[in-house]
Amino acid sequence: MSFASQGFGPEIVRAVSECGYDKMTPVQRKAIPAARKGRDILANAQTGTGKTAAFALPIIQQLLDTPTQRQGRQVRALILAPTRELAAQIANNCRDYTQYTELSVAVVYGGTKMAGQAATLQKGVDILVATPGRLLEHVAENNVSLTQVHHLVLDEADRMLDMGFSGELTRVMKLVPPKHQTMLFSATYPPKMKQLATQSLKNPVVVAV
Ligand code: AMP
Repeated sequence: MSFASQGFGPEIVRAVSECGYDKMTPVQRKAIPAARKGRDILANAQTGTGKTAAFALPIIQQLLDTPTQRQGRQVRALILAPTRELAAQIANNCRDYTQYTELSVAVVYGGTKMAGQAATLQKGVDILVATPGRLLEHVAENNVSLTQVHHLVLDEADRMLDMGFSGELTRVMKLVPPKHQTMLFSATYPPKMKQLATQSLKNPVVVAV
């Protein structure tokens, strides 16, 4: 199955083709049709399966379908990841996928100065990739608002729980509007993940690869 057959616009089809993607991977085949419709997703998928495109491309298309004023724009898609390396990698993928659009992508993570990240956030960002602790620091300093987030991804959610981010995830979920799409990706499904899934997902489509 091709990306064009999933109703993606020409900007996305061109970008994924330049990434060298020809056919969809299994997680993409299973998750993309439901994600395109705005459904919540609970996916059991490891890194290397193509999971980033599985959540990012449907979000990008939905953002393109509902444009907003460029001026004063706020974060509409928030992707949380456990480590700075993963966050940076997701942001790079998102930049590749949005290169023929007007959408902007930013990444914030801990272990580096707040100021540069704050300046980027204040310029206006459509898609924000973040580690949970640093995101909440920026929220506390009013560098970013989450009141327009309509798409939330919890990537490698099991690792985020293992790293002790459960409280941060709960706080973030309280800061985004009640009506939003959530996609939760996890390689494992221990009991505490079940609790997070129940807390964060509404009638999810379950994807296993
Ligand atoms: P991920 O699991 O998202 O980290 O993706 C693993 C690798 O597969 C990355 O290098 C992606 O660029 C690549 N990839 C993702 N989707 C496809 C696809 N449909 N065809 C070929 N490569 C892909």
